[in-house]
Amino acid sequence: MTNASPSRSELYKTITDRIVAALDAGVRPWLRPWSPSPTEGSLQRPMRANGTPYTGINVVLLWSEAAAKGYASRLWMTRKQAQSLHARIADSAQGATVVFGRRFTRSTSGPKGELVEASAGFLKAFTVYNGDLIDGLPERCLRLAEPARPAGQPIHRAECLFAAAGADIRHGGSRAFYAPDLDFIQLPPFDAFRSAESYAATKAHELAHWTGHRARLDRRFHDCKRFGSDGYAFEELVAELSAAFVCADLGIESEVRADHEAYLGHWVSVLRNDTRNIFTAASHAQRAADFLLAAAGRSAAGDALHPDCTQARCGGLERSAV
Ligand SMILES: [Zn+2]
Repeated sequence: MTNASPSRSELYKTITDRIVAALDAGVRPWLRPWSPSPTEGSLQRPMRANGTPYTGINVVLLWSEAAAKGYASRLWMTRKQAQSLHARIADSAQGATVVFGRRFTRSTSGPKGELVEASAGFLKAFTVYNGDLIDGLPERCLRLAEPARPAGQPIHRAECLFAAAGADIRHGGSRAFYAPDLDFIQLPPFDAFRSAESYAATKAHELAHWTGHRARLDRRFHDCKRFGSDGYAFEELVAELSAAFVCADLGIESEVRADHEAYLGHWVSVLRNDTRNIFTAASHAQRAADFLLAAAGRSAAGDALHPDCTQARCGGLERSAV
């Protein structure tokens, strides 16, 4: 389905503005620690209904749209394509803009009636919908979009430590978060992460949030439930630091989470407001890390090793028991 044809310059501007806005916020729209469907450690490109991957700017546009909306499917198609597959898209569904450009040669007649060949380009916008918004897609379409199996396993010592915390950790979807009211952690499936390290680092970050629950460390900063507040940014800083501490203890390189880079600017202002803030944040972060390490130490002393642990004492537990 074609949009009400915005001009080419409008399209360029809209798309440029969108990417610049993401970069301004510290988010690289082409980079995140997990993808809905990775293969061999790299992000997989969004795909059309016929199995052809998108290219160039459309990849960036669709990745950032998928990240913003939390879509897990890598399939995208127009309403018309969905209809041709006898699949349904709700009228209220929000599509994403992709562009299609092509150069062509046009023959016109010159001032003296001679034939003139002119090369021209056009850029057209289409609205496409993510597979998550489409009902009744045929099996062959869904199979096309199935993720390839990545190599690797979760890092054993990290899993031992994390399991000892006893948190309710659920897998699925394409976002990582801790739900404080329901007290559970949601993570994308392990296979969707770029690496075992990024999976472990993300888990450590969400577990740090989990330690703040009132039944545990009861960590509450002013207004911390409101997204965009100083308290919220502060809690993110604590989780970030705590994950870095835990990962360092485990000998895992913690990586910058693209979906948390947006806090960078806010942290700068929070930290500038009061030079003590970084100390406060670091001490909360240490308490959170210690809470997780202590749980692992207790379980190492007892018999509460996580069910998959086949080793008598695994590296992570030995280390954390110190
Ligand atoms: Zn966080």
